Amino acid sequence: MVTTTDFYAEYAPAAPPGELPRAPLRLSCVVPAYNEQANLAGFVQALAQAVQALTPDFEILVVNDGSRDGTHEVAMQLVQQLPVRYLALSRNYGKEAALSAGIDHARGNVVLLIDADFQHPLELLVPMRDLWLQGYDMVYGVIVDRAGESGTKRLGTSLFYRLMNSGNSVKLPPNAGDFRWLDRKVADALKALPERHRFMKGLYAWVGFKTVALPFVPHDRMAGQSGFSLRNLGSLALLGLTSFTTLPLRVWSVIGAGVALLALAYGAWILLDTLLFGVDLEGWPTLAAGMMLFAGVQLMSIGILGEYIGRIYDEVKQRPGYLIARDEGRSPLRDDAAPPR
Ligand code: UDP
Ligand code: MG
Repeated sequence: MVTTTDFYAEYAPAAPPGELPRAPLRLSCVVPAYNEQANLAGFVQALAQAVQALTPDFEILVVNDGSRDGTHEVAMQLVQQLPVRYLALSRNYGKEAALSAGIDHARGNVVLLIDADFQHPLELLVPMRDLWLQGYDMVYGVIVDRAGESGTKRLGTSLFYRLMNSGNSVKLPPNAGDFRWLDRKVADALKALPERHRFMKGLYAWVGFKTVALPFVPHDRMAGQSGFSLRNLGSLALLGLTSFTTLPLRVWSVIGAGVALLALAYGAWILLDTLLFGVDLEGWPTLAAGMMLFAGVQLMSIGILGEYIGRIYDEVKQRPGYLIARDEGRSPLRDDAAPPR
């Protein structure tokens, strides 16, 4: 029996209705790759082997996210050897866009999202498949051990989830990543969402469906290095916050009201002090400090407004989230996807 922890238990509909009559599995594996020349060939071969044990009908979509190393050459060789469809994006758009490109082109009745660096254990494919057969539409890996990460990253992560989940109707399960098994229903729902700048973790939660978590301990990255710097993660977190919560906008009204009330009380006190006790008007240091404090607070609130306005501007331009420069190889699967919008 597989152990699962269900973050959604308190938010989501009841347990699944037992074994479902699922159609035979036809699996699309989406593998985003950015500078993975050392990992890609070995990984795709290992993945193909693991998947063959589940079903003969599968495709592997390798999405090259504008790599600067030999990833392209490696992928072109894989196309000759395995049922690999290779999509090369026209530049580095980031992992979220690479995943979207994969989901958009996947044909199977299940889409598996998995990293190219061996961090997502292939042994989990069998339990994922079993949970899908039991009726879950989305199975996602949850990292149970972040010991390998720096203190700053862990602190930032916990702060981020705290903010994201405060007063928001869409709850993000902490430590859930992009290692996911998506039923065709879920993939089509994700495809139909119109936004261009995609914060995938938020979107998975937003679409809902019957979802279950599968805890796992990630392996170490096999070769190469993480494509995410602390700065990348920061801007990803900002994208997540601005697309999924308006809390940062709302706090300013509360702060503003609080400050106004305080100012009123302080003004009344000064007035009384002067009228009743005839104290001279003093206190320019209070004035100077107060002015500087509130100038700072105002600039901060304008900055946060600006983040949201920038997001709106990005979306109204309606530029596609990614462009495909090359589309190589053929998929052996017939197309199950809903037609594009
Ligand atoms: N990746 C990508 N575009 C990027 C950065 C990363 O497609 O701009 C891919 C990368 O090749 C890997 C997966 O996303 O398959 C996870 O990236 P990484 O291992 O760098 O992230 P981490 O595991 O450190 O979160
Ligand atoms: Mg990794």
